[in-house]
Amino acid sequence: MIVVMKSGTSEAKVQRMVDRIESMGLKAHVIVGTERTVVAAIGEKRDGNRETLESHEDVDKVVPILAPYKVASREAKTDPTTVEVLDLKIGGGSIGIIAGPCSVESEDQILESARAVKAAGATGLRGGAFKPRTSPYSFQGMKEEGLKLLAAARDETGLAVVTEVMTPEHVELVAKYADVLQIGARNMQNYHLLQAVGEADKAVLLKRGPSATMDEFLLAAEYILDQGNQQVALCERGVRTFETHTRFTLPLASVPYLKERTHLPIVIDPSHGTGIASLVPPMCAASIAAGADGLIVEVHPDPPNAMSDGAQSLTPKAFAAAMDQCRKVAEALGYKM
Ligand code: PEP
Ligand code: MN
Repeated sequence: MIVVMKSGTSEAKVQRMVDRIESMGLKAHVIVGTERTVVAAIGEKRDGNRETLESHEDVDKVVPILAPYKVASREAKTDPTTVEVLDLKIGGGSIGIIAGPCSVESEDQILESARAVKAAGATGLRGGAFKPRTSPYSFQGMKEEGLKLLAAARDETGLAVVTEVMTPEHVELVAKYADVLQIGARNMQNYHLLQAVGEADKAVLLKRGPSATMDEFLLAAEYILDQGNQQVALCERGVRTFETHTRFTLPLASVPYLKERTHLPIVIDPSHGTGIASLVPPMCAASIAAGADGLIVEVHPDPPNAMSDGAQSLTPKAFAAAMDQCRKVAEALGYKM
């Protein structure tokens, strides 16, 4: 249920409502909106709970949440959530651009990438230090050494660091260096990991599993939100289909579909979504046209010699040209980029 408080209700009164909800054996999530505060009351449906809460003097109305995901739903919060860290702003009319190599490979490689993507307009720097690779014989990432290089790149450029965390045991370590914790597609349904990043004091970029339905995707986000972390952005990175001309199939209809159902911002990853560098710039522009709140793009100073995902990585020059195009689309539609 969503308990909509009367406008202007004080924090102390909202807290009293939280206590009341918890005394009924329900979990309370306070969601502060621009207009008013609502409290999501989550748990077993019991006769009489709704009426009891609705009769409270500070309550405007109580409405049931019909979606299986509760805190993530539009019903719980109508105004869009903005994920904001350093200069990276995703959502609420701002398009956040995250770019950088698939993997951190060396100090020179990550610094060169960071400078180039910043010059082209990115405000977030991507780069994997812990890499989920299909083969155990492929490069697995520089691990903590890679995290330190990312932090050094942030110190020089001011870019927010977005990097993947693969296990609950590593959340503390990765959070020490990162600004945004990325949950990779393969881990979208690793529920202990989702809970662990939900407890962390860092924003989260949650990637869609390649075979996950939209409900499964939103319920994965719900695991993070349920731990009290509201700084969550969703990332569509393509799904597996019968089609083989691209690495994955990138459904851009996910953007408007998700926007109807959730207040969380939506980021598109056209690099993994297509797997082919020449297809990335048009899909960046198309993502913005579809209403995406952000992009995460693989950019490498020397794609043919990248240690991972070179075929889908843009050169700094191609990335800068793609961003010029994207800015035109963003401007035409009234988004800030
Ligand atoms: C990545 O961003 O480098 C990555 C591994 O992506 P995904 O989890 O979407 O495959
Ligand atoms: Mn990659």
